This record gives sequence, structure tokens and C-alpha cells, in this order.
Amino acid sequence: MGTTQEITVWTIVKILDWTRQYFADKGVENPRLDAEILLCAVLNCPRIDLYVHFDRPLSPEELKSYKALVVRRANHEPIAYILGEKAFLDFTFKVTPAVLIPRPETELLVERLVLLNKKRPKVSFLDIGTGSGAISISLLKLLPTAVAVAVDLSQEALVVAEENAINLGVKASWQGVHSNLFQQLAPTSKFSFIVSNPPYIKHNEIALLANDVQKEPHMALDGGSGGLDFYEKIISEAQHYLEEDGLLAFEIGIYQAEAVSDLCKQAGFSKIVICKDYAGIERNIFAAKEGSDYGNALMEIE
Ligand code: GLN
Repeated sequence: MGTTQEITVWTIVKILDWTRQYFADKGVENPRLDAEILLCAVLNCPRIDLYVHFDRPLSPEELKSYKALVVRRANHEPIAYILGEKAFLDFTFKVTPAVLIPRPETELLVERLVLLNKKRPKVSFLDIGTGSGAISISLLKLLPTAVAVAVDLSQEALVVAEENAINLGVKASWQGVHSNLFQQLAPTSKFSFIVSNPPYIKHNEIALLANDVQKEPHMALDGGSGGLDFYEKIISEAQHYLEEDGLLAFEIGIYQAEAVSDLCKQAGFSKIVICKDYAGIERNIFAAKEGSDYGNALMEIE
């Protein structure tokens, strides 16, 4: 009689269990969740469907596509790069390895800026180191009468940001400029506020970052030996590009609040507000002149 051969039927539940274990062995941080997200990308379905149809077998084509994604994730490629997109506030941004992946804590910087600007009729702002454009484009979505100039040293990043501006319908009020900080701006440019989430990791600490973060562009992370290079450069020139009584708004790294706030004070910004992130870490600095409209508005978010 013929021999019987056991054929493994890879159902949704079975492949998820297998992948969870595989990712865990490879040190992937959220093994089960990531397995589910990747499988949803292949099956083009919401996560709930995995649970509703957990006994559904996968076709050989589906298995092949899924396996390719699993290999990438096991190699610590961030999920956002594998999917090519990342949610930020209510918006979905295209991301590639040319841009930093937008972080949830950066949403706070945008939300606070919306509060600070909501009573202003005419807002123009400069976003330095725009990357994917998450900050400037979200701000334009939430402050529909504002206009933005977004600079980046990376031409590749600007291509991604521009695509996001188009996809999210704000290209008419968003201008990308390939520039090292202020260099390519017209010397007469004046903005209501300047916002930046510059590279702020100390150069020597880049190698200590999680594997996933190491896959992000180092030029978006490396803030020089003390991590403060970009704050020093931006703050020293900011006054020139700000309207009288303009505002400076930064994301900062852990333990940088005092140093950055001192730089702002030395540059003549007398009203400083420091805000924390979800983890209680000082994450944003806002700086304006005491008694100015922004200075007064800052008192409302303290
Ligand atoms: N928030 C990023 C991180 O901790 C750093 C981003 C930056 O340098 N601006 O990995």
C-alpha cells in the first residue's frame, strides 16, 4: 500500500504561532503583533479578520509573500519600512529608509503647536529637517490657513515629504527646499514660528540604539558629540528668520531640556516652556519673548 505523507496545512492560526516564536527567538520586540500586521498586509485585511478566519489555509502565493516579509522583520527592518507607511495623528505618511519614522511623542509637538496658533489669522512656519514631512504636513492639515516651508539636507527625504504633501492634499501651502538648515532660504524670509525635530542623539550613542532604530537614517539621528549641534545652529540664527515676537518649537532628547533652554535664553527668548511626553520625559521646548502674543499663549500650555 502507498505511504501516507503528512502535509502541513498552514492556517492563519498556525502561521501566526510559528512566526511569534521565530520573531521572539530573533529578539523582535512585539513578535505576535508584528506577525499579525505582516499577515494582514499580505491578506489585505484588518487584524480582526485574522481571528474570525483563524482556520483559513494560506495559498502557496500568500505563504511566499508572507515569508519574504517575515525574513525582513527578523532582520530588524522596522515594520513601517516594510509596509512603506506610518500613521501619525489622523494621517498616513509614506516612509522609506530615507526618512526617520514618525514617533508618537512627536505628535505632541504638533498638537501643542496647533493650540499655540489656533487664534492666529496668518501663520507661516519653517520646519527644519522635515524628513517624511510628518510635522509640517500635519500642521497644515490642522491649521488650514497656514503656509509652510520645509527644509531638509536629504534630497531623498524631500521627495518622500513632497509625495506626502500631495497625497494629503496640502501641496499648495507646503514648499520643500533642499537646504542645510537656513542656507538656501532667502535672507529676507520671515516666519511666525520655526519648528524642528532635529537629530539629537549623541554621536557615540548611535551604536547603542536598538537594532530597529539603527536602520533609520543616521543623519536624522546624529546630533554630534554632545547631541546638541543642531539646536546650537538653529537657535543662533533663528531670530533672523522669525517675525518680531516669533516662536521656536523643538522636540528634544532626554536630559537636553536645560541645555536647550539656556541656548534659547541666551538668544533672547525670555519665555520658555518645557513639556513632557507620555513617558514623563521632557520632550518639547517652546521659546518666545515674554509679553509677546506667543509668550502669552505659552502660559496656556504650561
Ligand atoms: N526620537 C528618536 C529616537 O529616540 C530620535 C529622533 C531625533 O534624533 N530627532 O530614536
